[in-house]
Amino acid sequence: MANGRYAPSPTGRLHIGNLRTALVAWLCARSTGGHFALRFEDLDRVTSRPEHQRGQLDDLVAVGLDFDGDPLVQSTRFDAHHAAIDALTAAGHTYECFCTRREIADAVRAPNGPSESPGYPGTCRELTDRQRAEHHAAGRRSAVRLCGQGTTVVYDRFRGSVELPVDDVVIRRNDGVPAYNLAVVVDDAYQGVEEVVRADDLLNSSAPQARIAELLGIAPVSYVHIPLVVASSGERLAKRDGAVTLADLGVLGVTPTQIRTALDRSIGMAPQAGPEHFDLASVPREPWVFSPEVF
Ligand code: GLU
Repeated sequence: MANGRYAPSPTGRLHIGNLRTALVAWLCARSTGGHFALRFEDLDRVTSRPEHQRGQLDDLVAVGLDFDGDPLVQSTRFDAHHAAIDALTAAGHTYECFCTRREIADAVRAPNGPSESPGYPGTCRELTDRQRAEHHAAGRRSAVRLCGQGTTVVYDRFRGSVELPVDDVVIRRNDGVPAYNLAVVVDDAYQGVEEVVRADDLLNSSAPQARIAELLGIAPVSYVHIPLVVASSGERLAKRDGAVTLADLGVLGVTPTQIRTALDRSIGMAPQAGPEHFDLASVPREPWVFSPEVF
C-alpha cells in the first residue's frame, strides 16, 4: 500500500497534462489501496487564488478522481515549515544567503566564477559574521539555504535509481516565505504520503527533497516521475496551445468522460477500467503528444 497525493499550485485551471499526472498519481495510490490526498501549494501568494483551488478540485473530480479528507492548503502550514527550517538551522545545516537573482546569474556567468554547481555559485556559503552583519546593516534581505553539495541517489519506481546533483537549495525565501522544496517535504510527511508521483520536470527536485527529509528524520518516500505532456510542437503543453483545459475543451463539446478515456489510453489503460487494472509499466516512457484535434 502506498499513500499518495496530488499537489497543484492553484494559479489557474489545470490543463490536460496536469490532469494526466494527477490520474497516474491517483492510480498509483488507489491500485494499492492507499489513501490519496490533495494539497494546494499556494506559496506564491501573488498568483495563487482560492477560486483556482475550487476550479482545480472540480476538474479533478470531473475526470473521476477522489480524495481522502479535505484538501490541505499549504499556506496554513507556515508554522510547521518554519519549525522545520529552525530545526535544520539549529543543527548547523543552513546558512544565510543575501544574493539577488541577478547576482547569482552574474556569478555563474563570470569567467572565473565558481562552477562546481550549475545552480547556486556558493557566494554566501562562507560569509564571515562581519560580512553578514554588513549585509544586514545595509538592509539586505536574506534567504536561508541548506548546505548540500554533491549528489544523491533517489529511487524512482518508474525510472529506477537515479543519481542527481544536490544544490544549496533555498528553504526560506528572502521574503520570509518557506520555499517549495522544504514545504513539500514537511507537508508530504504531515499528510502521510509514501509515494510522490509527478511530472519529470520535477525529477531534480527530488534530490534536495530526499535530503531534507533525511535531515528532518522523515521516512523516505518513493518517487514516480512520469514524462510531461507536450504539444505538437514538442514543447511542454501550456495554455497557449489552445483548448487544453476541461473548460476550453467543454466549449468544443468534449466531455470529461471523453477526456478521461483519452487519458486512460495515453497511459496504457483500458478506458473505464478500475484502478486494480493499472500497471505503471504500461505508462509510455516518452512524452504524450496532445492536440485538441484528437477529440
Ligand atoms: N506544486 C508543484 C507544481 O504544481 C508540484 C509539487 C510536487 O508535486 O511536488 O508544480
